[in-house]
Amino acid sequence: MTTLTPILTRSWDRPDSFTRTAYEADGGYRALRTALGMPQDDIIQAVKDSGLRGRGGAGFPTGMKWGFIPQGDGKPHYLVVNADESEPGTCKDIPLMMANPHALVEGVIISSYAIRANHAFIYVRGEVLHVIRRLQQAVAEAYEAGYIGTNILGSGYDLELIVHSGAGAYICGEETALLDSLEGFRGQPRLKPPFPAVAGLYGGPTVINNVESIASVPSIIDNGADWFASMGTEKSKGFGIFSLSGHVTRPGQYEAPLGITLRELLDMAGGIRAGHRLKFWTPGGSSTPIFTDEHLDVPLDFESVGAAGSMLGTRALQIFDETVCVVRAVLRWSEFYAHESCGKCTPCREGTYWYKLMLKRLEAGQGTEEDLETLLDLSDNILGRSFCALGDGATSPVTSSIKHFREEYIRHFENGGCPFNEAASTVWA
Ligand code: NAD
Ligand code: SF4
Repeated sequence: MTTLTPILTRSWDRPDSFTRTAYEADGGYRALRTALGMPQDDIIQAVKDSGLRGRGGAGFPTGMKWGFIPQGDGKPHYLVVNADESEPGTCKDIPLMMANPHALVEGVIISSYAIRANHAFIYVRGEVLHVIRRLQQAVAEAYEAGYIGTNILGSGYDLELIVHSGAGAYICGEETALLDSLEGFRGQPRLKPPFPAVAGLYGGPTVINNVESIASVPSIIDNGADWFASMGTEKSKGFGIFSLSGHVTRPGQYEAPLGITLRELLDMAGGIRAGHRLKFWTPGGSSTPIFTDEHLDVPLDFESVGAAGSMLGTRALQIFDETVCVVRAVLRWSEFYAHESCGKCTPCREGTYWYKLMLKRLEAGQGTEEDLETLLDLSDNILGRSFCALGDGATSPVTSSIKHFREEYIRHFENGGCPFNEAASTVWA
């Protein structure tokens, strides 16, 4: 039986957990002192050895990404934290930044030092003003203590850290659109390669990492790479925050080793709400193909979830019981993608628009079985043909719901409308 590993979340119940004094009392900024006494390459090696993989969804090895930054090139390097958390169901970075902002700030300083950056940015989703204020306060406290600024703790290392607010566009979570937005342009994805590690912010070598990835770095320096690598699975090491939402008795954040299963997480969360049963769920937000009750024992690590036909993504486990109409859920997600598509490429801009129209018709019971084939054909023309991951992600709920719940689509047009009792479907109320 896997148990929880509260590391980033361990102080969240303390009312003053967000303050510098509380963080320091819990051992905070000890790792920074250690790191500043280490050669930069040793820090990069420690992160490589830990096996930490990007916690923003894609799971790219963090130390390897840092290792791509050219050294001795004479160019300014940048660290950018992607705090634009917006994937439907994803809600781990925002509570982390509210309850434990100094873990992120300390992680930023150590990571910037390691990649030899003197400027770092935290790009925060625009709608969450309370988070922006909380981070600004934490950054000000770190400046006061001499953890940021010139000659940090007498080490000779200088760093400026800026908290930057986005304007509320989902596409600005895509790393290159984020860079465009940070530079003051309209946020739209850039062509990759070159990857940001080679040509990123203002054309300089840039590491972009998710909030949780960077916040995990102090614990690796403090406890060692082996400690981190001893948790999780062979290829998906360490711990992560699993966000359980929807029809679960105790929704919330569960920090656990990668490889835990939904069945184990549900045991900890009191199970599906009383009197109901699991119908479908997302392993990592709406851009990951949905799972059903057949997948309760799939280990939630990058490899196992992939082998079972989905993606680990952001570990946003949205749980739906039997009262929810899957067609309606997919329609709502598709409306989101159509709204958030940046319009740069045709497959996504047009495809998400047609998804929305067709799913509306199907949900109203006016479709035909041929429409399902058209939806699958449309998906084939979006997946792998879109400029960025948004288009690909939009296909996941559509194709996976047809795969697992084709009968439910058919019941809609046989019934001449949604067979679900509107009042019972509480998720969208
Ligand atoms: P990706 O696999 O293209 O890239 C992942 C990271 O690795 C990027 O930082 C990229 O620059 C780097 N990288 C990849 N190959 C590289 C190479 N050869 N050289 C140097 N760097 C390289 O994935 P992506 O498009 O950045 O992200 C997609 C993921 O984002 C999805 O899996 C999804 O789960 C997640 N997502 C998260 C949110 C959220 O709110 N957190 C929202 C939408 C999507
Ligand atoms: Fe924009 Fe969608 Fe194309 Fe991405 S896939 S560039 S969001 S239109």
